[in-house]
Amino acid sequence: MAAPDRPLRRANWQAVACDLCGASRPDVLGQREIIVRGRTCDHEMVFVDAACGQCGFVQALERPDDAFLMDYYRDAHIGHRGGELHFDGKARLAAVAQRVSGGGRIIEIGANDGAFCAELSKAGYDAFGFDPVEADEAAAVEKGFLEAGIASVAPRSADAVIAYYVLEHVIEAGAWLRSALALLKDGGVLILEVPDYTTHPQDSLNVEHLLHFTPETLRELLEQHGLEILRDQPAPTVAYGQAIAARLKDRALAETPRPASGAYLAGGPDRLKQAKAAYAEAMADLARRQQAAEAAAKLARDVDPSGTTSVFIWGANEYAERAAPLLAQAFSSVQVVDKSASKIGTPFPGLAAPIVHPDAAADAGTRIFLLCSPNWNAQIAAEIAAQGWTALAVIDAVTGERLE
Ligand SMILES: [Zn+2]
Repeated sequence: MAAPDRPLRRANWQAVACDLCGASRPDVLGQREIIVRGRTCDHEMVFVDAACGQCGFVQALERPDDAFLMDYYRDAHIGHRGGELHFDGKARLAAVAQRVSGGGRIIEIGANDGAFCAELSKAGYDAFGFDPVEADEAAAVEKGFLEAGIASVAPRSADAVIAYYVLEHVIEAGAWLRSALALLKDGGVLILEVPDYTTHPQDSLNVEHLLHFTPETLRELLEQHGLEILRDQPAPTVAYGQAIAARLKDRALAETPRPASGAYLAGGPDRLKQAKAAYAEAMADLARRQQAAEAAAKLARDVDPSGTTSVFIWGANEYAERAAPLLAQAFSSVQVVDKSASKIGTPFPGLAAPIVHPDAAADAGTRIFLLCSPNWNAQIAAEIAAQGWTALAVIDAVTGERLE
């Protein structure tokens, strides 16, 4: 898959013990080899998906090192994968407001471009965030980012620490949580969202994720660290997510967590069984998605066997990642288009051209469109028709069927 003229980076993967119970008895579920094309090089990631043989927690058996991940995120990360999922800023704000009084200090870990911190500030909070990937970007620092990251925050100063879709990316769950709790006041609130492996295993098993939490395993991790789970849980703000809010009750445990509880370990065999069933379901779903991408690519080739038509893949997400390499083999001009300003200009896996705005299609003579948004394809098809662009075909890459 890697072009011969581009350097290939491989991580130095290291086996680790289970984040939740410390056992080293993994039950390997499967392996996924992924190569992501970055701005300057290709990044090879080999995920050995495993469930802990003792407690059933699903995790990457081996973890890359910090240096590899940092280089990878800076070179290849395209922001929110699965572009059909937008977070609801109002719902996030309401979940914070329910637990933190006005003017409270809120620290967001993994703040991306600072968009939500800006919302919190507008609502009267003393909010700031940091993001290891964005922190050295001048624009992000201007928006109120901590230049030196976590080290520049006064310990135990935050009324709330929030992190949306961060924990599943980290190399070691406990180490990350302890550094987050060090920022929190005694009695302060932690609000997290992560993918839900129980309901959406295929989304949890997305590229970049190392830890795959169920509501049960997430709760256990927090309780081990002296947090009391709050009864009124916030609702997750993306379709595949789960949300949790917890209050810091025991500082000693936040620094030196207790071992996995007997009650948690007793559920291990059942959890392991469920983890395996969910993995099989996820792999079957991935196979279905791959078949749909192949069917869509075949439809495009049938419409223009010469391969000279301009192909526009609409939606920079995982559906596009499957379709793009198949189209690039058969067509000389393939572009991924997306309206999201944060994606435009960034590289797209498997293609030489960066992501562009859909208006780029205006310059083409004839076009084939492949639509990649599960919930919005009908609307996008209507938009294409309204533009008056000559389309040889409009194809749904999610279902593998022709729309026009
Ligand atoms: Zn375990």
